[in-house]
Amino acid sequence: MMQFIVFGNPIEHSLSPLIHADFGRQIGVNLQYSRSLTSSAQFNRAVAEFFRTGGGGANVTVPFKQHAYAQVTHVSARAERAGAVNTLVPLGAGQLLGDNTDGLGLVWDLQRLLGASQLTGKRVLLLGAGGAARGVIQPLLDAGVTTITVINRSPERAQQLVQLWQSPQLVWAPAATPEYDLIVNATSASLSGDKLVLGADVLDAAELVYDMMYGAKPSPFLEQAGQYTQMTADGLGMLVGQAGFAFKLWLDGAELNLNETLERLRAELNRGT
Ligand code: NDP
Repeated sequence: MMQFIVFGNPIEHSLSPLIHADFGRQIGVNLQYSRSLTSSAQFNRAVAEFFRTGGGGANVTVPFKQHAYAQVTHVSARAERAGAVNTLVPLGAGQLLGDNTDGLGLVWDLQRLLGASQLTGKRVLLLGAGGAARGVIQPLLDAGVTTITVINRSPERAQQLVQLWQSPQLVWAPAATPEYDLIVNATSASLSGDKLVLGADVLDAAELVYDMMYGAKPSPFLEQAGQYTQMTADGLGMLVGQAGFAFKLWLDGAELNLNETLERLRAELNRGT
């Protein structure tokens, strides 16, 4: 049986085993996908042991994505740009490729939500300048958005991101104005129960407000956005998307129906799994 795993801390609420079990079901492969609770001190040993015993692929989540980036022997261009790794692919002889599929997952979900209008020409407001924000910038630009404006609680982190990219398409702003088609929340404000507040005019002008956080109930941020904007969505689709791209790295050519997995996962989440 093929073995896969996700390393994180905390990890008990990870939905990845459910998602990958559904992928296995779809392609008729019997696989095991487990969760590994580890620590910074144990991470390298746990990863090496998993692959030494025949592991087929691994995901890495909070707080080890940067750690994994520093440990792998090969890094994809995407992971290099993101400065973080969420997918480990064994190359044999102890060599590991680190990739990052988070941004591809977001782009897949935004394209699903926007349908025909897609992402081309869109002006994006990106809230947050942490690992998740950094990971989605290049995939959004590659998907054709016109500009990305980054706003962050600590402005110097947003400015650092912009400096790193050296692209006229990525800019920093001290505050939001009503000129964006898409608003993407990549902060962890909801985790601490804090409310992110954007002006009604900013929300009203947007076609879609997206929160990378997901759950059975909408975040306070999405609740507020829902009063003004045409469309809101949480990050469950991004989660399924990043998992799908990781799975295809491990099992080259796997044909997956990500929409079907997303529907099943949403139903599970609403049931309180
Ligand atoms: P980081 O810790 O790297 O960054 C957190 C960001 O949130 C920083 O920009 C921080 O600002 C900001 N922030 C934190 N608290 C507040 C607050 N109270 N008010 C305003 N801004 C705040 O986290 P990540 O980037 O790794 O993750 C961010 C979110 O994205 C998480 O909720 C995570 O669950 C989600 N995520 C979802 C994924 C999915 O597949 N759906 C994939 C990856 C992440 P400052 O710099 O000032 O501290």
